[in-house]
Amino acid sequence: MNIIETKNLTYLYPDGTKALNNIDFEVKKGDMVSLLGNNGAGKSTLFLHFNGIFEPSSGKILVEGKTLKYDKKSLLEARQKIGTVFQNPDDQLFAPTVEEDVAFGPLNLGLNQEETKIRVTTALKKVGMEGYEKKPPHHLSGGQKKRVAIAGILAMNPKTMVLDEPTSGLDPKGASNILKLLYELNNQGMTIIISTHDVDLVPLYSHKVHIIKDGEIIKEGTPHEVFDDVKTVRKADLRLPRIAHLIEILEKEDKIKIANSFPLTIGQARRKLKDYIDR
Ligand code: ADP
Repeated sequence: MNIIETKNLTYLYPDGTKALNNIDFEVKKGDMVSLLGNNGAGKSTLFLHFNGIFEPSSGKILVEGKTLKYDKKSLLEARQKIGTVFQNPDDQLFAPTVEEDVAFGPLNLGLNQEETKIRVTTALKKVGMEGYEKKPPHHLSGGQKKRVAIAGILAMNPKTMVLDEPTSGLDPKGASNILKLLYELNNQGMTIIISTHDVDLVPLYSHKVHIIKDGEIIKEGTPHEVFDDVKTVRKADLRLPRIAHLIEILEKEDKIKIANSFPLTIGQARRKLKDYIDR
């Protein structure tokens, strides 16, 4: 089943900027999907459509097979199914303390204090932020804020989580921790959709990748299918993962052909290089 589907989705900002042009995008239940694109490609604009914050200029969105409607009740329903983590945690966090912030969603869903407390504790533990309950969110580091923002969404138990640039502004360890967490949540059954321009991290964690450029999806497939299409990757002002780039140079400059498809991770490259040496 498609958790989210857009059909001929076009969006114009009030000033006339066409940010999305005829987007057909679908995500299947249980997938971990990346939307890869340079700044200004349209990632945030597309994501803001998934739970109805933006309404298409033309075309439509289907959530779990049902056309999304924009009355209050339908939007509330959609937002319970799909939790969106914004790019900037400061847009999301507003309560005086971490625990109040994470509790906001569950309380809003009508859960009682006791149930809410369990949700808050569980969510903060999942993101590794237990012990920070009483801290004001604005005293936290960027990575910690991001984790609290994710906890706030987790506390609502959504089946699908949409994250706009979850690793932007984080140090390498912070970025890797967030992706590991998302990978775990996906293994536990949650559908995960992320936007990013981090081509080195994407292949480690995505089943499927979409490339967006100037408001259009110009390529989709498995990480291998997408990154083997070097021309399209560069056309989108992106680059190959570093490790694939090294293999590309070995092929072009040194005529060393180690595989038909670019290795995308250090593990894959290591195996292919060992095979090549042993041949
Ligand atoms: P991304 O998330 O990939 O960086 P965005 O979705 O933010 O891209 O932007 C897509 C396009 O829409 C860009 O050309 C951007 O300049 C434009 N845009 C974004 N926000 C607005 C706005 N409020 N008004 C007009 N144009 C906007």
